[in-house]
Amino acid sequence: MRQGRWVKSVLLGSLLCITGSLALADSESQPRRDPKQPVDEAYTAKIRKYTTQPYFLSPLVDYLPASTTVPTPEVVLGDVAGAPGMLPYAEDVYKYMRLLEKATPRVKVYSIGTTEEGREMIAVAVSSEENLKNLEPNRERLGKLADPRSIHLDDTEADKLVTQAVPVYYITGTIHSPETGAPTALMELAYRLAVDESPYIRDIRDGVVTLITPVVEVDGRDRMVDIYKWHLAHPKEFYPPLIYWGKYVAHDNNRDAMAMKLKLTQNVLNTYLAWNAQVLHDLHESVPYLYDNTVGDGPYNAWVDPILVDEWQMIGARNVSDLTKFGMPGVFTHGVFDTWSPGYLMFLAAMHNGISRLYETFGNGGADTRERTLEPEEYARTWYRPNPPLPKTLWSQRNNNNYEESGLLTSLHYFNENKRLFLKNFYLKSKRSIQKPTEEGPAAYVLPADEPRASLQADLLQVMLKQHVEISRASSEFEVTLPPKKEKKRPKTDDTEEKSKTPPAPTTRKFPAGSYVIRMDQPYSRVADALLDYQYWSPKDPQTTPYDDTAWTLGEMFGVQVTRVVDPKVLVVPMERLTELQPAGEVSGEGTVFAIENHAEPTLTTLRYRLKDASIDAAEEGFEAGGRKYPRGTFLLKGVERADLVATAKSLNLRVAALATVPSIKTHPVRAARILYLHTWISTQSEGWWRLALDELQIPYDYKSTQALAAIPDLRAKYDVILFPPVGWNSNSTTIIDGLPTTWGNPLPWLNTPETPNLVGKNDSTPDMRPGMGWEGVAKLREFVGKGGVLLTATDTSQFAEAIGLSNGVSTTPAEKMKIVGAIVGTRLVDNASPIAYGYGEKVSAYCDNGPIFTVNSVLGGRRRRLGPEGGTRPTGRGTKDDPDFVVGRTPDQAPDQPEHELWEVPLPTDEQWNNNPRVIPPGARPRVILRYADEKDLLVSGLVDGGKEIAQHPAVIDVPSGQGHVVLFSINPVYRGETENTYALVLNTLLHYDSLNAGRKDAEK
Ligand SMILES: [Zn+2]
Repeated sequence: MRQGRWVKSVLLGSLLCITGSLALADSESQPRRDPKQPVDEAYTAKIRKYTTQPYFLSPLVDYLPASTTVPTPEVVLGDVAGAPGMLPYAEDVYKYMRLLEKATPRVKVYSIGTTEEGREMIAVAVSSEENLKNLEPNRERLGKLADPRSIHLDDTEADKLVTQAVPVYYITGTIHSPETGAPTALMELAYRLAVDESPYIRDIRDGVVTLITPVVEVDGRDRMVDIYKWHLAHPKEFYPPLIYWGKYVAHDNNRDAMAMKLKLTQNVLNTYLAWNAQVLHDLHESVPYLYDNTVGDGPYNAWVDPILVDEWQMIGARNVSDLTKFGMPGVFTHGVFDTWSPGYLMFLAAMHNGISRLYETFGNGGADTRERTLEPEEYARTWYRPNPPLPKTLWSQRNNNNYEESGLLTSLHYFNENKRLFLKNFYLKSKRSIQKPTEEGPAAYVLPADEPRASLQADLLQVMLKQHVEISRASSEFEVTLPPKKEKKRPKTDDTEEKSKTPPAPTTRKFPAGSYVIRMDQPYSRVADALLDYQYWSPKDPQTTPYDDTAWTLGEMFGVQVTRVVDPKVLVVPMERLTELQPAGEVSGEGTVFAIENHAEPTLTTLRYRLKDASIDAAEEGFEAGGRKYPRGTFLLKGVERADLVATAKSLNLRVAALATVPSIKTHPVRAARILYLHTWISTQSEGWWRLALDELQIPYDYKSTQALAAIPDLRAKYDVILFPPVGWNSNSTTIIDGLPTTWGNPLPWLNTPETPNLVGKNDSTPDMRPGMGWEGVAKLREFVGKGGVLLTATDTSQFAEAIGLSNGVSTTPAEKMKIVGAIVGTRLVDNASPIAYGYGEKVSAYCDNGPIFTVNSVLGGRRRRLGPEGGTRPTGRGTKDDPDFVVGRTPDQAPDQPEHELWEVPLPTDEQWNNNPRVIPPGARPRVILRYADEKDLLVSGLVDGGKEIAQHPAVIDVPSGQGHVVLFSINPVYRGETENTYALVLNTLLHYDSLNAGRKDAEK
């Protein structure tokens, strides 16, 4: 049996190898404290006391190492991290981090910017003294891996750097203000990383730079701490819900990673990229007890590198495994998250060649220790959660801190153990981003220099710059080949078509000099590609509940031309890289009348408000002047100094032409409406994006709550337009009117007091958040419109307007199977003579999240049915399908033609309806549909549209005359997450033309 022996000896050899590697694995440092290092006994005793069950601890956090020189969090907190009843303000957290910095060379604190309300954001680096001394050379090494062009994509050079570089793991806490645990967990984590001498922690400290932003939403944190203090001072009372987090938005601060409108997003991305970090790990609290909300169940974002997908799985699986081995229940990954949208803060890393991670741990929304009872689906054992959380348990902030810290420490340790792999991956992902044009395409995205909507184009390019995407400008005209347009399948029966069909030929397109080229051979090509490309979410996807929006295609959302170019020739076009955008605005020609073409650019409104004294008229028809065609809605300015106009036009990216004479066409004045901006005390999230848009455009408004209406004696005397943006939060008309019950409970104040100094900020205040608009407020609103005011509403507030009888002839049909989840849909211009439509072409892409579905009628309370093939078919009888039926023994009678009208059209009243019917709306008072949803086949532009038939062709924007005034109803949400600039002007036009909304209106004769 020679062969046998040979096999045996080989086997023996390989067994030895295996033993060897096992021995190596055994040498991995173990998660246990260093018995030689003294423990801070008092602190440790409190950790154990505040932890409600021993299995909510781990060997990594069941003690605190003592130090004679470095202060523990107790010096600032007065207690241990996660102690009951204690939440520090951001300022206290920073104070502690700066004490650490003073006490040990292993900690450094950096200021990384400020918030909208001027509060500081920081990043804290913790690592060995050696690593922190060599930050700059290390940053340079990492920078070469981040941009492999610097080493000519040389893998050998990269391998060298990979062995030398120290990776950076960036942790961010409490972006969501009611999720309160992270700051104290991160204070203690910083201490442990700086002080603990156990081999396990030392490995992390020596091997990795841990970067920590303990408070991401600083404005919201301070408000939350105020509220918690109020709660402690009034333990038996209900405490106010956190209605404002940051200045603008609440939970959506974690949906800003695309448009980058919020300071916190900009500051975190700038920090992440300045450090060339490999991981961005964002801490949240909502799921028991630790859900690694990174891996999800798909569909995964289609633009991320598959290498990253593997990294999510590797780190996630190992993380769950480590904590499970500690005996900690309720740690899992996979589950409800889908990982499709790139809007989350953590996704900044995924889109910039790093690793995105997110924890949901279990928070109590404050620092109370509470009995927590879970829903059955939360404690159910599933394939991805073999060790689920307990159905019922006493839960503390300390438990939460234990999970956060244990999860982070095991992650850091595993990351360090495998850092060469992750650094190499980092390099590979960056390199593959640069190789995109040749490996996968496209080669570039091009935005043409002759874009008529220059200011919107500039805004989109600004988003790219904030994302650190490189933009170049072509110095000469160029032409590229575009792939042939795929033809839609023709019906098989159409023989002749089938035979004559030749394959469609590729087309070419010329771009003028000065066109913007976003090259895909750059390290951050992936984010540009993801944001500019189209999305398709199959209605048959096994994931039936998208976690967030399904589409974001920014070219469509900003309404500007973006061409995806696969042709690699585009990369050899002579071009120059831009570091900043040059304003494109200008004033050309000679004359004292100035014309600005209207292309629905939001900055036109800024101009109106800025040039207060100028006389501005809008052309109600298109015209020609100086050999140029001007569209309807063109601004005609008089009485303005050319120099003022030049400066304004330049900064607003508007192109102005001076004309010798005033064109003789019908015009009306464009006025700066006095705006009342209405919000509720139910939720300020959706409206926050509207506020941000108005502030960016420098449009002034009075910001008041629905409660304030009743007390304003004459709304119409003070205001021209009331903006009532969507409320969200499942609010309906009843909650808008009634608010929360006041017949029980206690007032919920939103006021600055010595107890709550930070609540109000620059927003609104009230002694009691509970009351809604009330019926007196409703009466005021009706009076306002009756006296000629304009009320603008969207989605749920449109339904509110309908409920209070302000939208005669408009009704809402409930959706049945329709599923349009944060998608981009096609809409079509119905009435281009309406000032609301000025500047728009026939097709307008818009953001839609399931409606509502509006129907218009000319009879109050009238019902409409869809005329389709099922209606209008003939009954069984004589003749062919198209013949009339007949009745035996009678002269054939002539049935009158059924009136035909499209779904978006207001049907004329029938003869029967006219008969003695006071419910027939007179022609001049009927709804005027401005935009409608596209036909079913054209409805989907990007994202998930299922059952779109229910809303196809229905009105999307309606101007309803009411009394002397108007109510303008939106079914789309025109102002959303800083991403929908294409539809801003529908709102802004309403402001500018509030007293001329009937311009171009054509009424039926009867
Ligand atoms: Zn959260």
